[in-house]
Amino acid sequence: ATAGLVVGLSACSQERDAEAEPTGDAAVEETMVGIAMPTKSLERWNRDGAHLEDLLQESGYETTLQYADNKVDQQITQLENMINQGANILVIAAIDGTALTPVLDQAAENDVTVIAYDRLINDTENVDYYATFDNEKVGQLQGEYIVEALDLENAAGPFNLEPFAGSPDDNNAKFFFSGAWDVLKPYVDEGKFVVPSGKAPASNDDWASIGIQGWGSDTAQAEMENRLNSFYGGGQKIDVVLSPNDSLALGIAQALAGAGYAPGDGYPVLTGQDADQANVLNMLAGKQSMSVWKDTRELGDRVSVMIDSIVNGDTVEVNDEETYDNGVKVVPTYLLDPQVVTPDTVESVLVESGFYKASDLGL
Ligand code: BGC
Repeated sequence: ATAGLVVGLSACSQERDAEAEPTGDAAVEETMVGIAMPTKSLERWNRDGAHLEDLLQESGYETTLQYADNKVDQQITQLENMINQGANILVIAAIDGTALTPVLDQAAENDVTVIAYDRLINDTENVDYYATFDNEKVGQLQGEYIVEALDLENAAGPFNLEPFAGSPDDNNAKFFFSGAWDVLKPYVDEGKFVVPSGKAPASNDDWASIGIQGWGSDTAQAEMENRLNSFYGGGQKIDVVLSPNDSLALGIAQALAGAGYAPGDGYPVLTGQDADQANVLNMLAGKQSMSVWKDTRELGDRVSVMIDSIVNGDTVEVNDEETYDNGVKVVPTYLLDPQVVTPDTVESVLVESGFYKASDLGL
């Protein structure tokens, strides 16, 4: 829903089969890379796809980039087509991390190397590498931000907290939640946090009960409205909303506005992730407290290094070989570092790094 706002994204919505400039490197020129992204409706995936495709084409690879409108069957068909067209390498940001087993069997029969992009692919041995940001750390940074913002060590509380989690079919969602809940749950147990809706998972494993299917802003908004109407009738105020990402935070902020919460004193602490443009604008307007920024350019750079290594027959560099067990194997992973952005650091972090132009943010 936020993609329309983006300014300056190149080639973001071209579903084209691109032939690159000849570079004289036969191994590269003979390699076709299929890139499967989940949806154009979330800003970050447009950036991810465009950046990776540009990088690979500059190196001389042939590429095809497809978006699947968050529809699992559509993504499977796109992958089948890529394999049939002779793709040698597939880079996949899976919609449902458990639904790709048959199509990846087909990939293996055709000697295709598979890189899971951002989200792990489960229940298959046919995934070779995984590149992502440290997902657990994303949640940890959100939890720690909340603890500091409320000065929980010193404040008596109790504070009203409403936790949300990501889409149950996305393998990342449980890591985000665990990272945050490890930090926050002790304060719930101690009574410094109260969860008036009762929607506080008893353990990290119960996160899916508060998961927002498809990461939808509208679904998150409806859920927040529901909690506000049902549990905050008697003058109770929300102090904190743990939102795992920006698309949920956008809907939650809408619901808060609808219930009369205005920026300033008394506006709840609201977390996010991705530093999407609409959310950065919300941060600057006092409607969201922070976002965990993952510089998607770094992820594309890392995947393109992996692809060069694969094509050259070199060892693929990874830095985590124990965390990401997909049920069949532990997938060798390269983890990147996420980073907190607050209204105060939008300029120094997001603008100075060139992720946004000052004018994109009205600065
Ligand atoms: C990604 C997040 C994103 C979410 C919704 C997750 O898998 O890691 O960056 O906000 O999906 O698309």
